[in-house]
This record gives sequence, C-alpha cells and structure tokens, in this order.
Amino acid sequence: MKYFFFISISFFSVYCCIAQQQYSIQDLKAGKFKEDSSYIYSLPFENKKKVFLIQAYDSKMSHKGELALDFKIKKKTRICAAREGIVTAARGDSDEGGLKPENMSDGNYISITHYDGSVAHYWHLVKNGALVNIGDTITKGQVIGLSGNTGYSAFPHLHFEVIGYDVTGAYKQLPTRFYTNKGTVYLRPGKFYKAVH
Ligand SMILES: [Zn+2]
Repeated sequence: MKYFFFISISFFSVYCCIAQQQYSIQDLKAGKFKEDSSYIYSLPFENKKKVFLIQAYDSKMSHKGELALDFKIKKKTRICAAREGIVTAARGDSDEGGLKPENMSDGNYISITHYDGSVAHYWHLVKNGALVNIGDTITKGQVIGLSGNTGYSAFPHLHFEVIGYDVTGAYKQLPTRFYTNKGTVYLRPGKFYKAVH
C-alpha cells in the first residue's frame, strides 16, 4: 500500500491524499475532485474582504513542493481564524523581516490546533500582531491577528498552511479547500477571492 502514498515533489508525480483518494498536483491546482469530504475552511480574512493569492500549491517562487498559500495583503490587515480550535503557539515580538537566512527565525505567527489534530499556521504577522494567547479557544472567523512582513518575507503577506496526519499517519502539509465567493474551491494563484463567512 505504501506506494499509494508516496510523495514526490517532481512536477508530474505529486500525489496527495484527500478523503482517502489520490489526486495529481494538476488536479489539485485545477481543483478537480470528484469526491471530497475534507473540512471546508473560511478564508482567513473578514467577511467580504477581497484578497489576491500570489502563491498556492507548488508555486515556483518559494512554494516548490509545498502545500501552502500566500495572500498578498497590506500590513495590519485583520486575520481571522479559518477554522475553530485552540491556540497552541503564538509570537508577536519581532519587528524583523527580509530574505536573509537569519530572517527565517524572525517571523511572528499564530498556530491553531483543530479538533482533528491538524494545525493551521498563520505567518509573518506585524509586531504585536498576535492578538490571541496560547490556550485561547478560537471560533471560526474570529479576528486573531494583524498581518505584516516579519520573518522570511519580501513583502507584506500572509502565509497560511495546515499540517496534519494523512491516512498513512504521516505528518505533513495538507491541502485545504475554502468557501469563497467562487464557491467551495481549492485556491489558485494569480486570482482574487472574496471571504464569505
Ligand atoms: Zn509562503
């Protein structure tokens, strides 16, 4: 069975397990899923906020082989929880950002653990932009932070990713679908999406 879950970052051989099925990275990028019972996230912004997705799954700039999303937004944009859970990590004391190797450890962030054990990470928050504390219970759509440009970041944006266990028990980045003004979709880069809560 193992080969079913083999993950390669090469362009034509990436397979992901969603609802215990396999999809190629092309399917994922095109949002083609016949059956999908995975959780539906809200965009991590306030209702009706329109945002531009600059990088998505396997995007070449800095997401090669990654299942993560970069939303291009102005500094201090209010960030909302994409899914309910409990805050398990948070940092807001950094004012440093850039593309030097040392900037990798400069990012402010919030991590929210969901009830299925998966964890959402919200990265690059502005200084003092983590508005929640470890241990807080968070509802979906709740304002949790303010965006910024801290950490390994070239411009103000929100990096969003969810880590969790797949059906094999492997702990890794998981693709997430969202409810948007364009329906329930897997997001694609170079497009605008509007939050619908
Ligand atoms: Zn990113």
